[in-house]
Amino acid sequence: MLVKSFGTVYLVGAGPGDAGLLTLRGAELLRRAEVVICDVLVNPELLRLAPATAEIITRGNHKRDGGLSQDELTKLMVSRAQAGQTVVRLKGGDPYIFGRGGEEAELLAAEKIPFEVVPGVSSVAAAANYAGIPLTHRDHCSSFTVFTGHSDSADPHTALRYEQIAQIPGTKVVLMGMNNLADWTQALMAQGLPAKTPVAVVERGTTGRQKCVAGTLATIAGLVAKAKIAPPAITIVGDVVNLRSRLNWFEQKPLFGRRIVVTRRMEQAGAFATRLAELGADVLEVPTIKISEPLERMAVVEALLEINSYEWLIFTSANGVTAFFDLFFKRFQDMRDLGGARIAAVGPATAAKLRELHLQVDLMPEAFTGAKVAAAFMKYQNIENVKMCLLRAEVAGREIVDALQENGAIIDDIPVYRTEPDTGDRTGAAARLLEEGADWVTFTSSSTVEHFHARFDLPKLRKQFPQLKLAAIGPETSKAIAALKLKPDLEAKAHTTDGLLAALLKAEG
Ligand code: SAH
Repeated sequence: MLVKSFGTVYLVGAGPGDAGLLTLRGAELLRRAEVVICDVLVNPELLRLAPATAEIITRGNHKRDGGLSQDELTKLMVSRAQAGQTVVRLKGGDPYIFGRGGEEAELLAAEKIPFEVVPGVSSVAAAANYAGIPLTHRDHCSSFTVFTGHSDSADPHTALRYEQIAQIPGTKVVLMGMNNLADWTQALMAQGLPAKTPVAVVERGTTGRQKCVAGTLATIAGLVAKAKIAPPAITIVGDVVNLRSRLNWFEQKPLFGRRIVVTRRMEQAGAFATRLAELGADVLEVPTIKISEPLERMAVVEALLEINSYEWLIFTSANGVTAFFDLFFKRFQDMRDLGGARIAAVGPATAAKLRELHLQVDLMPEAFTGAKVAAAFMKYQNIENVKMCLLRAEVAGREIVDALQENGAIIDDIPVYRTEPDTGDRTGAAARLLEEGADWVTFTSSSTVEHFHARFDLPKLRKQFPQLKLAAIGPETSKAIAALKLKPDLEAKAHTTDGLLAALLKAEG
């Protein structure tokens, strides 16, 4: 008999928004997912953890007006698992706190599809925390109650009994309570809760877009309307709200509330984006280029065959380092096959990438100009008749080659990768940029300016969002911005991502 084996469905709590609040188990499962089905509230940055080959299903990405309904997502979850695929169903916060996780698990059980549920950090605790509010505190209360503000009062099972809720001591947390905030705050007062009871509303808690207003049961509905707070938001009712004035650690961060664009694939983009997010920024990692193998393959094949014959290997970018060693290890198993050549890295990011591979850098010209690179070599040794291998992008200027050749070096200029425009937008960051704009766009090389411009038309974007500021890592990058008849709003003193970060902090300080 043919036994059909179903794939497992993992109902994974994606946490409240801050990507760092996904559990280790959740991350591990995402890394081996074949299908990822995502709820609206899930931070799309998490999708980067999934393999590039994984099918990603979100409400919006099926080309249909209004996107998929919850029922359609659930059907897809079942059918993919029945086809034998490993499905990660990402749900905002904790899967079993509202959001219908329980119903989905019931369905899987009924269909005899194997499933596991991975708890997540719920917005109940997390959004309150990031707004500076502990839900319990010995001086204020010893319990908290969570309820939904959105309930069907015609249904006696789910209808809220305000007279009961008003009786319960302790903090109250309300989910999905925005649409009828005025009604239920009124109802609680009518049932005897003092009008001056402190209340806070936290929108998009734990994210760079967090917004919080605090008031009282009597004032909160007006304050929320004035601040244009919208779902998703939680409401916290109780004395603990007053602790916010002292414990509000998150909104104090130096870049809190600033939306900052980082162009992906640039050197060390990941680390830079993480630092910005840690400083509270709402980071949009926007792809502009992707790296692929060079079209012209023979040169690198030949260079690898005689890699031992070079006295110097010269790298000019971290991407070049990665691309070269990808090709190298396709041919060789052993790092010692690299031979005894000295290694030069142009710029600190390139050197850092080599050090990650435990390769020491013998020479690091700081600047990218041909003259500066040649001067750095000449200071090190006479390069007449010295054989060098320059490993870099397929389309690159002649400057460095010419400058070294003028001093007598014998150079092979080997393309190890090619850059192509990237129009993908897995995380929706590009769409958000076009819709909402940003406070800063950061550029870490002249080519990031060019690629960004090719995708987004920088002058047009700036016209559409006049508050948009441009940050350049150094003079070459500023020149590329100037070539578009724009002026950078800041240029970093030290031409590294740390230098850029320092400049941003100063500008925002
Ligand atoms: N399972 C989720 C809740 C799903 S119900 C959890 O455990 O967090 C959806 C409601 O959750 C929203 O209407 C809102 O009230 C709340 N919510 C989810 N994420 C939120 C966030 N980042 N900030 C504030 N409220 C959030």
